[in-house]
Amino acid sequence: MPSPAVQLNFSTTWSYAPAPESAAHVKVAPRYELFIDNRFTPPAEGGYFDTINPATEKKLSEVARATAADVDKAVAAARRAYEGPWSRLAPNERGKYVYRIARMIQDRARELAVIESMDGGKPIRESRDVDVPLAAAHFFYYAGWADKLDYAFPNRSPKPLGVCGQIIPWNFPLLMAAWKLAPALATGNTVVLKPAETTPLTAMKLAEIIQDADLPPGVVNILTGAGDSGAAIVNHPGIDKIAFTGSTEVGKLIQKSLASSRKKLTLELGGKAANIVFADAPIDQAVEGIINGIFFNQGHVCCAGSRLLVQESIAEMVLRKLKDRMRTLIVGDPLDKNTDVGAINSKPQLEKIQQYLKIGGEEGADLWCTECDLPQRGYWCRPTLFLNCSQSHRVVQDEIFGPVLAVQTFRTVEEAIEKANNTPYGLSGGVWTDKGSKIFKVSSQLRAGVLWANTYNKFDPASPFGGYKESGMGREGGLHGLLPYLSLN
Ligand code: NDP
Repeated sequence: MPSPAVQLNFSTTWSYAPAPESAAHVKVAPRYELFIDNRFTPPAEGGYFDTINPATEKKLSEVARATAADVDKAVAAARRAYEGPWSRLAPNERGKYVYRIARMIQDRARELAVIESMDGGKPIRESRDVDVPLAAAHFFYYAGWADKLDYAFPNRSPKPLGVCGQIIPWNFPLLMAAWKLAPALATGNTVVLKPAETTPLTAMKLAEIIQDADLPPGVVNILTGAGDSGAAIVNHPGIDKIAFTGSTEVGKLIQKSLASSRKKLTLELGGKAANIVFADAPIDQAVEGIINGIFFNQGHVCCAGSRLLVQESIAEMVLRKLKDRMRTLIVGDPLDKNTDVGAINSKPQLEKIQQYLKIGGEEGADLWCTECDLPQRGYWCRPTLFLNCSQSHRVVQDEIFGPVLAVQTFRTVEEAIEKANNTPYGLSGGVWTDKGSKIFKVSSQLRAGVLWANTYNKFDPASPFGGYKESGMGREGGLHGLLPYLSLN
């Protein structure tokens, strides 16, 4: 007798058994001090603030709040190190320190991943498989450049700038620290780094690594604190270069305050990328790309594909498949290995997203979200679509920085390009099509620094990253990422 046809039945109530990552091996101290001159140092006057787990709202630790007096101390330490041991070191020896940091990140990868998920809310699968390995890869990559700068810029006598102030956001705390520190150190600069207020813990673990790696005192100084600590770094006269990643609003403030100074500046700011799906695209693959584009890291990604532009003739099918796929997304405990969408990073960020959910509805877009259960405590947002959006809607124009996708349709290639470019931002974009020629036509006309074709959110330390327009200036990653840290004669 012939065996019955095998069929996949999607309408069962299958669910995954919990697969929690253990946090038992992780040591989080009750309090962290500032890291200045390779020593953990109490703040001069700023006191301490709590850092919490956004999935449970429970306090994890408290960290020091740096004020102008601490910034002064850290800049002085960085200057001593720059003019002392660090500048006397042979470039290949400098490279060895950077390699050492890379290897120590790998050694402590599991611990760093767990802390990143606890402090920031991102799923452990992402911190384990993306954030931490990429952070190590950045240090490895730039370590290799340390003794090859004369070959990278032949006949240009590359020289370090001096003391760099670096300010990073909360969406990829360890990875952004790596993006900033690795090229600065490889090129011979010293650093004062400020992590974001809500995610200081992996930066403090990185401070332990730097101490264990035996870097000369003062080469890396890490100051925790809030926006005013960042502003004190930006405005300190002893700093030669500022590298900032964060909101366009704060980026503009920084640019204004440095306008009359000699400090070099790079800004990596917001985005509102269009993910463009043409009728000839591999549809199931594109649906995965749309999901990855907007729901990776709860949408707290500057290059997120937060606008979907789908060709009208396939819109109905794509949206049906997209909704089906969204219904399978597991929202919840960041430390569970099954979780796809973790906690929103902070209460203010959740409130901002909720405000946009209201604005989108009031402006006339149709809100659709999944019906998944959410945990009782913590900050959560269901994966959400805004359908039937117009170009003028704020949910199409503004960076929401959450798991919210604005959907629009188009008929022609020209219309897709025009809509994609109709934004103050210019950081990234995606193109989905079967035709290579269309990829070239569209990507050459999109005003965005990073473009992916038939994929999304792929990162590599060798590849430059950065934006046009209000998405910032300067590039990080690759050979281009060395330039902001060097003067070339
Ligand atoms: P911010 O731009 O305020 O924060 C980024 C970093 O800058 C943090 O370390 C912050 O410190 C610091 N900072 C804040 N004010 C100043 C200042 N005046 N001078 C120097 N440094 C400063 O982003 P938010 O955390 O407030 O997030 C707000 C919005 O910004 C988000 O909703 C999102 O839309 C966008 N954003 C975009 C990012 C991107 O990569 N494109 C990253 C983060 C946010 P602290 O956090 O301690 O206050």
